Amino acid sequence: MTVFRNARIVDAAGERLGDVLVEGGLVVSVAEGGFPALPGSGGMLEIIDAAGRVLMPSFVDLHAHFRDPGFPEKETIETGLAAAVRGGYTAVNLMANTNPPCSDMKTIRYVREKAERTGLATVHQCATITEGMKGEGCGHISGLSGVRFLSDDGRGVADALALYRGMLAARDAGMVVIEHAESSEFSKIDMRLAEDSMTARDIELCAATGCPLHIAHVSTKGSAALVALGKSRGLLLTCEATPHHLALTDSTSYRVNPPLRTAEDIEALVAAIESGTIDCISTDHAPHTAGDKADGAPGISGIETAFAICYTVLVRSGRIGLPRLSELMSLGPARIWGLNRGLVKPGFEAELVLVDTGIESRVDPGDFASKGKNTPFAGMGFFGRIDLTMHGGRIVYDSKKEKP
Ligand SMILES: [Zn+2]
Repeated sequence: MTVFRNARIVDAAGERLGDVLVEGGLVVSVAEGGFPALPGSGGMLEIIDAAGRVLMPSFVDLHAHFRDPGFPEKETIETGLAAAVRGGYTAVNLMANTNPPCSDMKTIRYVREKAERTGLATVHQCATITEGMKGEGCGHISGLSGVRFLSDDGRGVADALALYRGMLAARDAGMVVIEHAESSEFSKIDMRLAEDSMTARDIELCAATGCPLHIAHVSTKGSAALVALGKSRGLLLTCEATPHHLALTDSTSYRVNPPLRTAEDIEALVAAIESGTIDCISTDHAPHTAGDKADGAPGISGIETAFAICYTVLVRSGRIGLPRLSELMSLGPARIWGLNRGLVKPGFEAELVLVDTGIESRVDPGDFASKGKNTPFAGMGFFGRIDLTMHGGRIVYDSKKEKP
């Protein structure tokens, strides 16, 4: 049993001051104003003084690359999960562009077993949409079990008919397709057209097949407008934005895919967050070695800095309230995934994070648990320090204990 005392409790439903009791991996009661007396439990009660700090549902990341199997020099399941809990995440959905790509149960089981051994967080391993990420063929989908999401992320599915067939198979199997919307024939000449044109095509395929579609890392004004239109048609359509596309414009020279965009695009993304068009924030955590990054590999090691960046850019700036950020980082993605998480409420899983929003911390990649030190945010200050992360009712990260 654990009690968080005198916390500022924030979730998508709002905020209140009080105590939260956790037992058996669940939130069992929330007392506004605090428990009149602490429940007796024969010395087994752990009391955490949360006064002055925010207790929220821990975060759910629908989009991370842990590079395992295949690229242990960039990241492994173990280092990726250590980074996740430091960032306040206890659920991560891993992309399938590993080596070999995750197209069969042998590779998926390898990831699941490694993740389970760490005990740090809930992991879902995506399977590829096309077999071996070769861009066509979806015969492997019928052989998958326990798979919720399919994605060829890293690239889009160029062949529309191949994606159409994959989406029909995904729909029949009760799966969601996550698309990296980038038309590769335009990538070298116009990255905006590459994103917008494939987003439009994919939304039409969503309409035609009835397969739930989640658009990854929406970064342009045009693509956010297309998603809003698709949602107004009642399609099974969701989308995400990343912290870096909300925080940085193309005046920062740093290679990510999709690329950093203009201030006008950021304004459109924030408006889409306010209007509800954007369902969640995902990190697109993409660790690389220093050598690979120097050679032009796109991506940011972002899972440890995501909350502080979003808190500073969206909440401290006054654009949205902390409950809405909680919805974007916990309840929203939990709903798309199908997890019983995202609210600090009796009956919900005890997946929690304790945050100090009054502390500004400088980003120091040397301090990352991730093997990827690639970040354009190094040296920058952000508010919102993760103090403690709880998974399944157990503390899996404590900033005080980590470095004695
Ligand atoms: Zn992608």
